[in-house]
This record gives sequence, C-alpha cells and structure tokens, in this order.
Amino acid sequence: MVILSKYDIAAEILLDNTPDSTIIVNDDGTIVYANQMTLQIFGYTRDELTGQSIGTLIPSRFHHVHGDFMASFFKNGRSRSMGKGRSLFARRKDATEFSVEISLSPINTKFGKLVICSIRDVSEQIKTQNALTRSNTELEQFAYVASHDLQEPLRVVASFSQLLGKRYHGKFDKDADDFIDFIIQGAIRMQNLINDLLSYSRLGSKERTHNRIDFNDILQEVVENLQFLIRDNHVKISYDNLPSLKVSATQMIQLFQNLISNAIKFHSNTTPIVTITAKQQDNEYLFSVTDNGIGIEPQYYERIFILFKRLNTNPEFTGTGIGLTLCKKIVELHGGKIWVESSPEKGSTFYFTLLV
Ligand code: ADP
Repeated sequence: MVILSKYDIAAEILLDNTPDSTIIVNDDGTIVYANQMTLQIFGYTRDELTGQSIGTLIPSRFHHVHGDFMASFFKNGRSRSMGKGRSLFARRKDATEFSVEISLSPINTKFGKLVICSIRDVSEQIKTQNALTRSNTELEQFAYVASHDLQEPLRVVASFSQLLGKRYHGKFDKDADDFIDFIIQGAIRMQNLINDLLSYSRLGSKERTHNRIDFNDILQEVVENLQFLIRDNHVKISYDNLPSLKVSATQMIQLFQNLISNAIKFHSNTTPIVTITAKQQDNEYLFSVTDNGIGIEPQYYERIFILFKRLNTNPEFTGTGIGLTLCKKIVELHGGKIWVESSPEKGSTFYFTLLV
C-alpha cells in the first residue's frame, strides 16, 4: 500500500494493462502491489490483497515448499521462470485452483528488496496439450492395432502370390506373368510400409529412464551398422567432440542411422562427405548432420518430415518415407526440435536440439 502511493501514474497504467497478473511482494512475502489482471484472475479487490501474504494465492498443500523457496530466493535470487515443464498451481478467492507459469524478478529499491512476480494462467494451454496427447496416443494405438492386424492377411497375399509366380510362371501368357509380378511387388511394398508403421507406433514415450550416453560411442555404433553402405559409396564421415547426454541410446542410434543413411543415399555425383557436429547453446545442444548431396528445395523443408512423404520416386532411392518422421518423433520425445536447411545440388544440413 505504501509502495503503491509512491509509484508514478505511468508505471501503474503500464502494470494495469499488462496481460499477465503482476504482483509485487516485499522480502517477508507480503503483497505490496497487485495489478488489475491479478484482481480479475484471482477474484479479490485490491484492498483485500494488499498487505496479505503471497501464500493467500497458493494452495495450502504447497505452503511449506513455497516458504523455503521464497527464503532462498531472497537470499541469492536471480530472475527466473517457474512452471515450464511441470505443474504449478494458484488459488482463487473462491478456493478453486488453476495452473500457472510464474516468473520472478528481484529488484532493489529505496524501499528495500522487492520481487516482481508475473503469473500467467496456463490452464487452457494445459487442457489443449492434454487433449492433444490423448488423441495422439489414441492415434498411435490405432496405427499399432491396424498395422499389426494387417500383417497376417498381407503375409497370406504375399506368400501365395509368390507361390503362384514360381509355380505358374510361363504357363499362362506374358500379361499374366506381369500381373502376378505387380501383385508380388505391391504386397512386398505394403509389407514394408506396415512394418515401418509398426516401428513408428511402437516408438512411444515408454522409455522414461534415460542413461548418460556418450554420443561418440553412438556414432561409432552407427558407423559400424552402416559399414557396407559407407564402404560401397566411399563415404568420408567425420565427427568429434560430441557430448554425453541423458538420452535413449537405441533411439539415438535410430536417429543418426536415418540421417546418415539419407545423407549417403541422396548423394550427388561427387564422393559423399558427411559431417556431424554438436555445440552447446544455453540449456541445449545443437547437433548437425551435413552432406554434400542432391539437396532439397525450400518448399519441401516441412513436408519431408510427414509420414510416407518422399520427394524422389526414382527407384534408385529406395525407402518408404518414414525415416524423417521417426527422427522427428525421437527428437520430440527428448524435448527437442528438428529441421533442415539445404541448397539444391550443394547439400543439406539436418539440425536437431537435445536438452542438456
Ligand atoms: P526415405 O529415405 O525412406 O525416402 P525419409 O523420411 O527418410 O524417407 O525422407 C523423406 C524424403 O526427404 C526423402 O525421400 C528425400 O526426398 C528427402 N531427403 C531426406 N534426407 C535427405 C538428404 N540428406 N538429402 C536430400 N534429400 C533428402
């Protein structure tokens, strides 16, 4: 209250018009100022809030944690945000609760040490996220069940058409032989697609316990797995000084295997050169896989990450178009992002981030 009278009009207008709830507390956790949005969100009048403990706005089951946190924040606090990636709750006057993200900024004023708390109501965002996760899970279950159940009848079609081809080749006419070949090729292609779909839907978030893994070891294993492809195409592959991070080793192997085999598969006329780097940026590592291959036109940068989307129908480039979709899912399961930058005919760099 005392502080409020010392604020000039402009500052108060500014605070009252910010879209987030802004509260100023002193070093014993007493609210000295609450902006208009705070009153609207929490259902109090300004007089009711000013002079109250900040604990009024926090569900009582968190009071003990909060008390300790505030004490240590005042002692050595720097600006920080809370609530990203985990649930924080606030309590309205009518005792209902909602999810929030909070950022705290300590300031030294002539009235002593104060903390500006910016509180954002994220309950709608969380509801949408939960609905999305639910529908994603349902979709994955559907893809799993459908692809799993399709395997058996397809196996029958594939094996009997192959038998037909073997036993009756040349016994009808040329057209009949061609038709049987088309059926066999179609069935084999569908088996490949279904197997890919199965591995995509199996790649869940089940693997929750991640160990610290050295990426140099992961690359060594990938190079070993791809040794024939590397040798046959005379590929020059280089990487060094890669970090150790808490990740799923199997998924990282899958990720690099897909990116590196694409880098080799889509090579140009020159000897394929593939370079892998990683550098730290704040709380994440930026990895890159660069090739000197055929490149990708900018209009396809996003499309290539969609399930079964391929740019080349040239039979020289085998594949079903699932590789990059798997890569995207793996990176996202680890809280990162993946994208491509490329110059057609010069080469491409696939970038992805992983949390430290
Ligand atoms: P697939 O390799 O089975 O076709 P992907 O999902 O791995 O499927 O890739 C999708 C498409 O993206 C490829 O068909 C290709 O057109 C393009 N692509 C992927 N990686 C590269 C690359 N390194 N250089 C050029 N094009 C690429």
